[in-house]
Amino acid sequence: MSSRLLSCCQYETNKLVRIESIRLGSLKWTLNGVILMFICMMLLWNKSYQEFDLVVSSVTTKVKGVAMISLPGVLDDVVWDVVDYSGPVQEKNSFFVVTNVIVTKNQKQGKCPEVPPGGKPCRTDTDCEKGAWDQHSHGLQTGLCVKSDVMRKTCEVSAWCPVEARRKPPRPALLAAAENFTVLIKNNIRFPAFNYIRRNILPNMNDAYLKSCQRRNDPLCPIFRLGDIVREAGETFSQMAVEGGVIAVQINWDCNLDRFVQRCLPKYSFRRLDEKESNRTLYPGLNFRFARYASVNGVEERTLYKAFGIRFDVMVFGKAGRFSFIQLVIYVGSTLSYYALTTVFIDWLIGTSCYTIEARQNYSEKKVEPVHDKQQCILAVSFVDENHIRLVRRSQRKCLQDVKPMSIQQYKEDAGRLAMVGAVQHGLTNVERQPRSHAPTPVPNPSPNPSSSPSSSPMPGPSSGPAPAWCSCGCCGPSSVLPQEQLCCRKTPGPCITSSPVFEQVVTRRSLLEAIALYRDPLRDRAAAESADDGALLRRCGYGQYISWRFGVPPADTHPVAPSCCVARIRKEYPSPDGQYSGFRPAATAASLDLL
Ligand code: ZN
Ligand code: ZN
Repeated sequence: MSSRLLSCCQYETNKLVRIESIRLGSLKWTLNGVILMFICMMLLWNKSYQEFDLVVSSVTTKVKGVAMISLPGVLDDVVWDVVDYSGPVQEKNSFFVVTNVIVTKNQKQGKCPEVPPGGKPCRTDTDCEKGAWDQHSHGLQTGLCVKSDVMRKTCEVSAWCPVEARRKPPRPALLAAAENFTVLIKNNIRFPAFNYIRRNILPNMNDAYLKSCQRRNDPLCPIFRLGDIVREAGETFSQMAVEGGVIAVQINWDCNLDRFVQRCLPKYSFRRLDEKESNRTLYPGLNFRFARYASVNGVEERTLYKAFGIRFDVMVFGKAGRFSFIQLVIYVGSTLSYYALTTVFIDWLIGTSCYTIEARQNYSEKKVEPVHDKQQCILAVSFVDENHIRLVRRSQRKCLQDVKPMSIQQYKEDAGRLAMVGAVQHGLTNVERQPRSHAPTPVPNPSPNPSSSPSSSPMPGPSSGPAPAWCSCGCCGPSSVLPQEQLCCRKTPGPCITSSPVFEQVVTRRSLLEAIALYRDPLRDRAAAESADDGALLRRCGYGQYISWRFGVPPADTHPVAPSCCVARIRKEYPSPDGQYSGFRPAATAASLDLL
């Protein structure tokens, strides 16, 4: 119970690999420096250390100016002031200035001919239908066909007569002088999160300033000439005045409420909102009709105005920011992940061809520790005609010789072990040879053959039977029945590895194997050992020698396999008294190797 509790109270941390390279080290610092610079720049540029709030605003406007209109025959030199040209409706956050007008005076309820093109041309009364009307009519048809002018006849209508005759607005615009009107825009804003209130008429603006200021030389002046607004929107007032249009007055508040750099000023900009190519569209500009009514001798009369004008929509945007420690912490936290880019980049770099294969392999061996699934038994196979090691899955059915490799590994020399074994063996042969009087095999050093094989021995295997089909060297015996034992020393046909003098020297030499056995068990009683089955131990030492020779340091978590011909040769040198062998056991092979 307590040990389980203890296991909960543990801290795990990552194990790191430090590559001591000046190049990579300076690259790391350079990249980290660049990332830090980028983070700082973004911090200052986006003011990521601030919390923000959006503006809440209200707008009022006041237009000023007077203009004289004269339209011969209809209007004679009438002065229009703000009441006349502002139109009848005041919308929220916008103001309207009439710039052009079509006036139809003294209209009365009655019957009069419709005007073309809205009016339907006719020849006789049958062309007109009583009570009919359409979108362009000024009234309901009476069913009569009457003369509208000298040339034409049109259907008569019941309407406000005379009907509005003119279709196209006058050119130039009657109120083109509205260009010189001025508008005072009052804008109160508030940032609720900071409880901050301000208006665009700044505290330092007094009455005298407001009377004299001009947008041309003071961008903060809240009084605008309409001509300037239209010009800054990229339009010409005189052209726009003819048919009217819509212009946006944008006020942008970009406020910094930090204590020492406090700044909160409006910025004005203008642009046209409606279709710019208004002359080409079907219903260009902006116009509406209104009428003023009067009673003349008890009869109601009206003057009809079709007003063209420019509507100015005031739009207020803005945000304010103020330093917030929490925002700063969140920003810093969110940027830490950028430093992983350095790792990703350098890891990628040391895997590319900028480095030699050896260096790359070295890095990857230090960095990556492969762990094979323990359920699977991975075997390492070395062929004498290949200079790499194959890793194969153990198969119960397929002959090991033919199993396809799952990966290929480079041979890794186990230099230390070789030197050590060499030293032990060297000392032993020089000093300890003499007392062994009853040695069954007097081994003169240069002699390659142990005396137990009287015939010429490079073919030590089962010379009796033919080699099986999977064997390429001709020395593998038919005793290898299990598929995982069916492995030859080579892939392509050729001489067997056991025929090499090195095999003799390194794998089967008795003096060497005894030295190794003694090295493992320094106080081994040799006489007692010889009475017991000394062969099993020497065989195991032989297998270990073969594996160390052919595999060096075997790849991690794999079981190196000795080919059938070598096993047969070692067994022949050191036979079991009862002729029984334990056979291939991967785990045992690995364990014996660990001991050696
Ligand atoms: Zn073979
Ligand atoms: Zn062989």
